[in-house]
Amino acid sequence: MARIVMKFGGTSVADVERIKNVALRVKKAVDAGDQVAVTVSAMAGETNRLVALCDSVSELYDAREYDTVVSTGEQVTSGLLAMALQDLGVDARSWQGWQIPIHTDDAHGKARILGIDTDVVSQRLDQGQVVVCAGFQGLGSDNRVTTLGRGGSDTSAVALAAALGAERCDIYTDVDGIYTTDPRIVPHARKLSKITYEEMLEQASMGTKVLQTRSVEIAMKYHVRVQVLSSFSDTPGTLVCDEDEIVEKEVVSGIAYSRDEAKITLLSVADRPGVAAGVFGALADANINVDMIVQNVSADGTTADITFTLPRTDLPRALKVLEKGQEDIGYARLEADKNVVKISVIGVGMRSHAGVAQTMFRALSEKGINILTISTSEIKVSVLIAEEYMELAVRALHSAYGLDAQ
Ligand code: ASP
Ligand code: MG
Repeated sequence: MARIVMKFGGTSVADVERIKNVALRVKKAVDAGDQVAVTVSAMAGETNRLVALCDSVSELYDAREYDTVVSTGEQVTSGLLAMALQDLGVDARSWQGWQIPIHTDDAHGKARILGIDTDVVSQRLDQGQVVVCAGFQGLGSDNRVTTLGRGGSDTSAVALAAALGAERCDIYTDVDGIYTTDPRIVPHARKLSKITYEEMLEQASMGTKVLQTRSVEIAMKYHVRVQVLSSFSDTPGTLVCDEDEIVEKEVVSGIAYSRDEAKITLLSVADRPGVAAGVFGALADANINVDMIVQNVSADGTTADITFTLPRTDLPRALKVLEKGQEDIGYARLEADKNVVKISVIGVGMRSHAGVAQTMFRALSEKGINILTISTSEIKVSVLIAEEYMELAVRALHSAYGLDAQ
């Protein structure tokens, strides 16, 4: 007998028929003797509809009222699933975030979980009752409902699994696992049977939307084994776990890409202390996250060019901030480019293998693809390239690292 958390995303509960299917899946686990806590998302499209309602009432809506509205999607599915389970003769009860409660901070719309009181739900689990929790929502210290940011029910599920000491958190979604790269670009991409938390975190932060980034952080911190799998098939999914659990580690486990990139270059910036602090301080004040940064000093050593990347969606705001600050920062000219993408090769094996970056650079050069910017971390090498070469680059790298399925 094991205690598990099963999480079902929006497509898995998109209509009543699918909710009944989910109930059957949960019943199977219960019949196998498991203690089951379920976390549900809103029905597919429902949260978007609720967000649009808020937008249509007020341009500057109060974030507390936004949470009041958008948290309702999960309330509906939790009740419907509890009913469907009861219909199958399974003892089940729905729980809203405030009832458990799942305590969060007061950052409405993007709240962080602070702690979960598991006493009552834990008791119910011990009694054999299925606990159906509404994902995405919590209780702020202002005693009001909060939501955890888009995609937040992954985080609800993993945090619940951590608090309940669950053996595993199964995330049922519309893909059947984590692949070596996007199968829409590389049809012979392989499904990974296991991936480390670190690698998954890099994938999530690159915009791979399968798991909310925060949920992977929590899983890593509390060593929650997370399985990503499809609710529409019975094929095994991908286990996100500690490195020790993976016997055959790949040097590179995946190629990720992000289209949400733009590049700014400030030309002829004075080469003196404090200039970079000025540039990036102004951007940080505007809440703009900068990613890759490169600085080149001119031949005579008096000026420098600073190039950096940022989310494409933030480009207009960043340009405004930098143009306004031109005199204070002290640069001659500014160039911006939004036809760029970031490609990353990710793998924990890089820590102990030389030549990973070299393989990347060679593969790209063989296709005549120019690299604009490079950055590295312990388990990732990223390059910025022109957007038109994105698919070609992903395919070339996928083969270069031997990731293509046989
Ligand atoms: N329903 C919420 C959203 O669409 C939370 C989730 O599904 O994870 O963002
Ligand atoms: Mg999701």
